[in-house]
Amino acid sequence: MANGKTILLIEDEPAMVLGLTDALSFEGYRTVSAGTGRLGVELAKAEKPDLVLLDLMLPDTNGYEVCTQLRRLSRTVPIMILSARSQDADKIRGLDAGADDYVTKPFSVGELVARVRAVLRRVERAVNSPASVRIGKADVNLAGHTATCDGHEEPLSSYEVSLLTLLLERVGESVSRDEILDKVWGVQAINNRAVDNFIVKLRRKVEASPDKPQHILTVYGHGYKLVL
Ligand code: CA
Repeated sequence: MANGKTILLIEDEPAMVLGLTDALSFEGYRTVSAGTGRLGVELAKAEKPDLVLLDLMLPDTNGYEVCTQLRRLSRTVPIMILSARSQDADKIRGLDAGADDYVTKPFSVGELVARVRAVLRRVERAVNSPASVRIGKADVNLAGHTATCDGHEEPLSSYEVSLLTLLLERVGESVSRDEILDKVWGVQAINNRAVDNFIVKLRRKVEASPDKPQHILTVYGHGYKLVL
């Protein structure tokens, strides 16, 4: 049954394209695929996909460059990098280029589809949340994916918006790391440290003094809570 969502797959390995296209179509997604970065960017312009799955090793260019171009086209489309590289430096480079998530090959197709579903559900939830919120000195525009603190505007990734949305729904309450992983990433496959690193990055965008956070607080041994 079609669900109205389009997924752009930028990947040059035919077996991978076939496997993912099958699995995603079975779940009701419409998929379009490109075997090169150049074609991928063109398809993104033409199709305005709801989510992009992006391989890093492409014949014409590297995935980071493609990611940067995709981010220029849309600030909000979720981009998941698929790659055989598992080094942290590569992950950080991908996230810096504007990717939201990083899935290391080999992965199970079932797990990837679950992750895609979770990301799209999350995006839908964000659509129904308030468009903007004031967190301390920061103006956070959840719909426009920006945080402005002390006159300085920073882009927010779709995961950061999702994390803030979750903390906002439960403002003043501690939300556990496990729940954050489950609701924001959709699986518990990535390690808890990822959430901590994510929080550090987010604090730099919304806290006036990120080293002495006043709003996104650590609840030791449990998780995080938002105080407005
Ligand atoms: Ca490849």
